[in-house]
Amino acid sequence: MAAVVLVGCTGDSDDGFRPGSVDLADPYAPGSGNGGYDVEHYRLKVRYDPAEDRLTGVAVVTATATQNLSRFNLDLTGLQADKVTVDGDPAEHRQDDGELIVTPSRKLKNLGRFTVEVGYAGVPQAVTDGVLGGSGFHHTDDGAIALGQPHSAATWFPVNDHPSDKATYDIEVTVPQGLAALSNGVPGERTTADGWTTWRWAERSPMASYLTTLVIGDYRLNVATHDGKPMVTAVPAAVPATGPQARTLSRTGEIADFLAGLFGPYPFESYGGVAVADPRIGYALETQSRPVYGPGFFRSGQPNYTVVVHEVAHQWFGNSVALNRWSDIWLNEGFASYAEWLWTEHDGGPSAQRTFEQQYEWTNWSQPALDPGLDQMFSTAVYRRGPVVVHALRRTVGDEVFFQILRTWTSERRDRTATTQDFIALAERISGRQLGSFFDAWLSGTTPPPLP
Ligand SMILES: [Zn+2]
Repeated sequence: MAAVVLVGCTGDSDDGFRPGSVDLADPYAPGSGNGGYDVEHYRLKVRYDPAEDRLTGVAVVTATATQNLSRFNLDLTGLQADKVTVDGDPAEHRQDDGELIVTPSRKLKNLGRFTVEVGYAGVPQAVTDGVLGGSGFHHTDDGAIALGQPHSAATWFPVNDHPSDKATYDIEVTVPQGLAALSNGVPGERTTADGWTTWRWAERSPMASYLTTLVIGDYRLNVATHDGKPMVTAVPAAVPATGPQARTLSRTGEIADFLAGLFGPYPFESYGGVAVADPRIGYALETQSRPVYGPGFFRSGQPNYTVVVHEVAHQWFGNSVALNRWSDIWLNEGFASYAEWLWTEHDGGPSAQRTFEQQYEWTNWSQPALDPGLDQMFSTAVYRRGPVVVHALRRTVGDEVFFQILRTWTSERRDRTATTQDFIALAERISGRQLGSFFDAWLSGTTPPPLP
């Protein structure tokens, strides 16, 4: 009888339940991301006291097992988990080198939904191995700034810290009354009690964890509506209300509309942007629906619209259509940088074709745009060769087919992830042409391809 056989093989070591993988083994983000489950939603409640530089939080993570799970990991760096439950039952847990290792009291069945609740606290830390610089949680003069690529979220909440596992978020942040606490998505109710104010944010479109942000401090907020959706922009209270940051951010809606005309409908429920003053943030990042802009972009004292074009273009390319692995980073940066070319032409500057001819001459063909390597993931191989590849495709298939490819990509892949192979397959389908050798030559070839 089958039952007898089944009883015979039931044992702890051979019951089909295995630990989830501790690492997704993405060479661009070693140690980040975990396997064995797929997160749907994060409900975060964090409290940060800048005077003490102390964060306390409760994260409720709803996920589905993708195998029979006896144990699983979340990424959590620099903070201590003090209480972990799975489906309401206390779970064994320990922490080791950025991993929170959870052993639920009852094993989790493949395809079963489960909820992990983690209470945690500590003095949050910056990422020390960041290739971007200034990543992770930074304590600032008036509060804090948390952001970074390819990983940063694990410095302020337990997370499956890899873009291949997108999820929706509810984020509640409690800070001393008088300070702002800005994050992603649609603003919710703000309440104040006993000298503390709780700010609420909801991101209902799936978001990669590196696209989360938390900005706490003394900010001048502008809350408006654009195209029927909330638009929240903020600049440090210490910079002038009519300064380059505020003037730049005030055109966010207009820039989003320009890009929507090219790429298809804006993919999210809210708009915005946050300018920060901390010089450690030496970059801008396309944090979902609300990019963060470092002070360097406004050093000239003039507005800087192209950086907004770049970060807003990422809302389609990188955020709504996200990466499955970091080696495809050109899919993000190539298109966001190409959007700058299109804006420059629209704004009365050189045509995209003129920019292409110039950049083609300047391209270092010894460096591939596809799989450039961890050290080169934010290099010119991606930011300058990437848009050259995009324009070469446009020249090859013609304007009409090119923009049809882009709009089909952003609609078919909306809220999902994708790879370079997916993009090539789509471009071939829409154009009716074989493009494998085109992409090989332009993305990875070591000599300049003939001009199309
Ligand atoms: Zn970018």
